[in-house]
Amino acid sequence: MTSASTPLPQSRRLVTDLPGPKAAELLSRQKAAVPAGVASLMQTFAVRAEGGVVEDVDGNRLIDLGSGIAVTSVGASAPRVVAGVQEQVEQFTHTCFMVTPYEGYVAVAEKLGELTPVPGPTRTALFNSGAEAVENAVKVARAFTGKQAVAAFDHAYHGRTTLTMALTSKSMPYKHSFGPFASEIYRVSGSYPYRDGLSGDQAADRAIDQLEKQIGAASLAAVIMEPIQGEGGFIVPAPGFLQRITQWCRDNDVVFIADEIQTGFARTGQWFASEHEGIQPDVITTAKGIAGGMPLSAVTGRADIMDAAHPGGLGGTYGGNPVACAAALGAIETIEQDDLLQEASRIEAIAMEHLRAAQKQDARIGEIRGRGAMLAFEVVDPGTGEPDAALTSAVAAAARSAGVITLTCGTYGNVIRLLPPLTISDELLREGLSVITDALAAH
Ligand code: PMP
Repeated sequence: MTSASTPLPQSRRLVTDLPGPKAAELLSRQKAAVPAGVASLMQTFAVRAEGGVVEDVDGNRLIDLGSGIAVTSVGASAPRVVAGVQEQVEQFTHTCFMVTPYEGYVAVAEKLGELTPVPGPTRTALFNSGAEAVENAVKVARAFTGKQAVAAFDHAYHGRTTLTMALTSKSMPYKHSFGPFASEIYRVSGSYPYRDGLSGDQAADRAIDQLEKQIGAASLAAVIMEPIQGEGGFIVPAPGFLQRITQWCRDNDVVFIADEIQTGFARTGQWFASEHEGIQPDVITTAKGIAGGMPLSAVTGRADIMDAAHPGGLGGTYGGNPVACAAALGAIETIEQDDLLQEASRIEAIAMEHLRAAQKQDARIGEIRGRGAMLAFEVVDPGTGEPDAALTSAVAAAARSAGVITLTCGTYGNVIRLLPPLTISDELLREGLSVITDALAAH
């Protein structure tokens, strides 16, 4: 193991097979102490992480193309995040904002008000997880409109709590055997240009027809959508789709909630993916990349909507924990000072070039899509275009065994996704991509 006082070399190094002997021992302890439902992808255990590299218990160094599912976007152990956390831990770790408030919470709320494309004035409430932010966004939308129904889209992912499972589309593994689900949740068709072949307008006509005929604006409190659908397969809706949906919501007194938990915080080359679409959501949920790895989430919305919830109606013991807020301020400063929006575009250029070259050699790479450092490709049967989930898992498993943290996603399980830290070097990124495309070529 490298000492924390020396920088972790930003290179891949395998000194054992995965799992190595120490990891194998920990895996058997995990099996005995942790339920099978909490499954881990990597066959090893982390001891240290820095920038774009994770070091394991056996001294292997892995290239991180997942950022802990889009969380450590500023790089693992980013210096401003670490410094902010250390300073705050020495002052105090908790008072509960609902009991004795502190400045860090207010500062994060002010910053989110500035950064999110929600039309001002805004208010921001802080929570712990993405799912908790989504739950609270739904609560404020219901309080504001006095209505109850909520519409979510095909391929949506919004979390694993009872309400957010209902909003999430895919059954296995997220919902299977866990019902009954929350009521007054409706699903409508979205826009998946590679598979539905519809323009933004055509897909919006279909969705609006379902909203009007199957739910009715008079009953509908909110429409929630990820501007790029993450777990569903990094699906970028056809141009114009989101503009039509947000306009329909505005015309019908329905709150439009953009779930930017995965797409937010510089990941796509803008602070928020809504900006690429030219939309101004009424409410935005954020989490993941917001605090460099500390658990924090937020709901930022129009002041009139957010203030509709009565005093005491929103909160929770840990929401906006001071250490997590200090981390968020460090992460935001890092994105601003180090121009990480630009870095996301750099990653997009390198990865797109690599993947397009690989696609020319291999027709099993279907659509390559995404924005900034949120990119993916579908693995398909070249003859029929049918999703190939078995090949996708085999390729991802081979890349992981070769020391690259590789994630998959997609309703059909056939999407390999890239979520590297925005600070990853060109060399490390190219090497990680080569490991994945070589693994595909070898299968
Ligand atoms: N919404 C989206 C778009 C997400 O990607 C996720 C997490 N993958 C969530 C909500 C849930 O976040 P959490 O796991 O922090 O509850």
